[in-house]
Amino acid sequence: MQTPIKIGISSCLLGELVRYDGAHKRNAYIQATLGEYFEFVSFCPELSAGLGVPRPPIHLVRYEQGIRVQTTKGEVKDYTDAISQVIEQIKPQLPQLSGYILKKDSPSCGMERVKVYDADYLYQRPPEKTGIGLFAAALKQQYPHLPLEEEGRLGDPHLRENFIQRIYVYHRWQQLVAQGLKANDLVQFHSDHKYLIMAHNQDELRQLGRLVAQAGNHTNLHELCEQYIERLMQVLQQIATRGQQANTLSHIMGYLREHLDAEDKTELVEMIQRYQQGYVPLIVPITLLKHHFRRHPVPYIDRQYYLNPYPGELMLLNQV
Ligand code: SF4
Repeated sequence: MQTPIKIGISSCLLGELVRYDGAHKRNAYIQATLGEYFEFVSFCPELSAGLGVPRPPIHLVRYEQGIRVQTTKGEVKDYTDAISQVIEQIKPQLPQLSGYILKKDSPSCGMERVKVYDADYLYQRPPEKTGIGLFAAALKQQYPHLPLEEEGRLGDPHLRENFIQRIYVYHRWQQLVAQGLKANDLVQFHSDHKYLIMAHNQDELRQLGRLVAQAGNHTNLHELCEQYIERLMQVLQQIATRGQQANTLSHIMGYLREHLDAEDKTELVEMIQRYQQGYVPLIVPITLLKHHFRRHPVPYIDRQYYLNPYPGELMLLNQV
């Protein structure tokens, strides 16, 4: 049976009334669409750190000694330690998560560009948007492989596709690790993701291949696997350009060279070009390739996640 894919999420995005003002920030796409594919594990760092609802709003405030998270109106209350340590409460569940969706702009959950106020000029200077929420920072530091994304960024089709792709790659990796990953499994995993990695960075594909080549005789397979997944998850964060995708599609098309007549080849080449020029989305050349591979199966290509990165019903390739 397929293990459910668990995704951590800021509670307010699921409609839970946990915000400082007693409201929520339900995100319909996350709840209705992604909710069909993922099992959400919701967590509100501020609530779990003992801040009630409603509560005075808190902000990131820069002091000479570092950034604190505090209330800025009335009596100043400092929650830096409480929120930094709250990750301990969700820690037992974190290894089972394959991704995490965070609420943007929050001094606890925001992943980037969170407002930071200068302690000496609280109301005289506008805040800089350079901060990261304390919980998000702890998550990043302790689980560097875990795919993270902010709900606001999921509105961008490329970032959304990239995030979902990383979740599925990471989930497949977690399943292998849970079964007791052997050297052969690492080799097969890398092979099955070859074209997916190529689309992100051809040079990194070669570097990762060199790592994998050591699997059979490496004295510490666990260490090698850690290096591999860390590097892979970093590479996959790079958004694949149309040029890189077209190059990958052309490589895959090479496996059909013997089987297609001139007309089919021309049509495929033209479709890849039309995709590269931005006239059609990625799903178009991929669908055409899959059509030809159904008629002329190639087991190696059949295993490539590039052509089937996640359930097609998510329709993410229709928008990139
Ligand atoms: S701490 Fe995070 S989950 Fe809780 S209300 Fe703020 S943004 Fe939402």
